[in-house]
Amino acid sequence: MRSERRFGHKFLSGLSSSARKTILVAGGAGFLGSHLCERLLKQGSDVVCLDNLLTGSLDNIAHLSQTGRFTFRQHDVIEPLRIDGPVDEIYNLACPASPPKYQKDPFHTFQTSIMGAMNLLELAKAKGARILQASTSEVYGDPEISPQPESYRGCVNTVGPRACYDEGKRAAETLFYEYGRQFGLNTKIARIFNTYGPRMSPDDGRVVSNFIVQALTGRDLTVYGKGEQTRSFCYVDDLVEGLMRLMASPDDLRDPVNLGNPGEFTVRELAEIVLARTGSRSRLVNLDLPVDDPRQRRPDIARAKRELSWSPVVPLEEGLDHTIAYFDAVLRNSARKEAMVS
Ligand code: NAD
Ligand code: UDP
Repeated sequence: MRSERRFGHKFLSGLSSSARKTILVAGGAGFLGSHLCERLLKQGSDVVCLDNLLTGSLDNIAHLSQTGRFTFRQHDVIEPLRIDGPVDEIYNLACPASPPKYQKDPFHTFQTSIMGAMNLLELAKAKGARILQASTSEVYGDPEISPQPESYRGCVNTVGPRACYDEGKRAAETLFYEYGRQFGLNTKIARIFNTYGPRMSPDDGRVVSNFIVQALTGRDLTVYGKGEQTRSFCYVDDLVEGLMRLMASPDDLRDPVNLGNPGEFTVRELAEIVLARTGSRSRLVNLDLPVDDPRQRRPDIARAKRELSWSPVVPLEEGLDHTIAYFDAVLRNSARKEAMVS
């Protein structure tokens, strides 16, 4: 397995020798969740995937059933849940992550973060399970400092279109903290920075998938504002590795941990790299900058390096090439299907 070769480390060897676990992944049919389920199955665990299929897809997880150790349950995490049998670990990834998707129904997004976290924390309490929250760099809002360490308390607008997501995720961190403090639950908080890779949905709306699909279909690349805002892009394999290391970390590591790639690019630079990697002759077009769009974002990953011996290893160009190949195949497949129908 490629990432095991790249990350020869104590947590991974600990994982492979541990007893067979039952691991629940909420949001497991989504982009990140489906990669996580795959890695957990490869590690030898039984995986239960909960998802309401709001932004996820059965196509992302269809191949996992072959293992005989994968169960899918369609469920909205805002509803209480009951799971029979033991559960050793819970990953809470259930929440739309793309701004246009999470802003479509802000009340449901808010409920997903808060009631979803409560329901999963209650389940962890009942089962004595470890639980990890997929939090986000959005808890830093539009940051005034760069890079952002975990100690930075953020600059979030509570009454803007991003607030349903940012404030929901901030509140979820508080719930994780209190369940740890009040009930001794083994909680973990990953603050995930922009992550990309295969299995993002072509209509997801985030910048990497938008630019690649636009470049491959010969459409203009939609650069919001002047494209001077920055992001740091982490390849999915690196991120999943970080999540698993955090879950396996010592019990007393309850503070939030940034997971992301510190390489920082303007959105315009990203567009130009995508054009170069795809060989596309698409042009760049400037559209309005969305309200409250963060001007800069770059993780300080000193804590992840120190506590998890983790840092990303996939360079942007390499990760983009894997992602471009994925979207190329998806687009060719849907063109073939359309041709057969007409
Ligand atoms: P995604 O939209 O592909 O996946 C989210 C999954 O959660 C989907 O399968 C969706 O159907 C499911 N879901 C949404 N609401 C639900 C609900 N109420 N009940 C059950 N399932 C629900 O997004 P992703 O990029 O895979 O993100 C996964 C998690 O990681 C999210 O919690 C997101 O906030 C967090 N995160 C991701 C990034 C990133 O760059 N990818 C960055 C920061 C945080
Ligand atoms: N963006 C863009 N064109 C797009 C989609 C996004 O220029 O088609 C910009 C967006 O304004 C933001 C950055 O790219 O500055 C990252 O956007 P994304 O939605 O991927 O994630 P965010 O970090 O904003 O949650």
